[in-house]
Amino acid sequence: RKILRAENVTKHYGRYVALDNVSLDVHEGEVVAIIGPSGSGKSTLIRCMHQLESLEGGAIYLDDELLGFRRHKNQLLALNAKAVARQRRELGMVFQQFVLFPHMTVAENIMEGPTRVLGDSVADARKLAEHLLERVGLSHKMDAYPPQLSGGQQQRVAIARALAMRPKVLLFDEPTSALDPELVGEVLKVVTDLAKAGKTMVVVTHEIGFAREAADRVVFMENGRIVEQGEACSTLADP
Ligand code: ADP
Ligand code: ADP
Repeated sequence: RKILRAENVTKHYGRYVALDNVSLDVHEGEVVAIIGPSGSGKSTLIRCMHQLESLEGGAIYLDDELLGFRRHKNQLLALNAKAVARQRRELGMVFQQFVLFPHMTVAENIMEGPTRVLGDSVADARKLAEHLLERVGLSHKMDAYPPQLSGGQQQRVAIARALAMRPKVLLFDEPTSALDPELVGEVLKVVTDLAKAGKTMVVVTHEIGFAREAADRVVFMENGRIVEQGEACSTLADP
């Protein structure tokens, strides 16, 4: 089942073509890695999926629902902010730069969305935070504050926080490129574990080894286009 579909997505920055007619389907449970040179449009594509950028052409669908618009008679009307926020929650995003609230504990960071936005009780949110911190290997840091954690640990908390919102799809925008090299592995391991657990994910990454191991499909972008894609193993096999 196709859960996320980008159809002929086009986007310019001035005269620069960031996305040139890009189409990409993501199936439920699939992990798609997007790789390619810097400036090729990878980040723009997932930012469009998260509705941080508007499209000039084409459309993106999540579960057959058009992102950003609704149909009314024969017209497409822009969704209001509340509807966009709901759609955005269903596509969780983990950024390059982990953005946690420094004055809240790790657990509170994770519980914030579920209690404030999803209406979970504090007890349920706390249980969820415990479960998710176990998954990312940080149960012992539950009551620590983000500045007390390493960059790798903070990014793992950011992943737990994204998961706490129960997104249908998780998007990662170069989740390890802001990290010191020795901390990259622990974050990639968490993403690999989520892949094994069947999470649907789109991961922009420079980590070829990770893409080979964790992704079901690798998409190569160049100059705003998808120039090649295939099963991770065959596409990335050494010549
Ligand atoms: P990638 O993620 O593959 O490195 P991006 O999607 O970030 O590529 O960027 C594609 C191109 O669009 C780049 O050349 C970048 O400089 C340009 N670009 C990205 N965001 C903006 C922006 N807000 N304004 C102008 N140009 C941008
Ligand atoms: P999987 O991701 O492999 O399906 P889980 O069943 O642990 O594994 O998680 C499914 C989704 O349900 C996750 O996105 C998670 O955030 C959410 N979730 C997990 N445990 C709970 C819980 N106790 N209460 C509410 N939501 C949960």
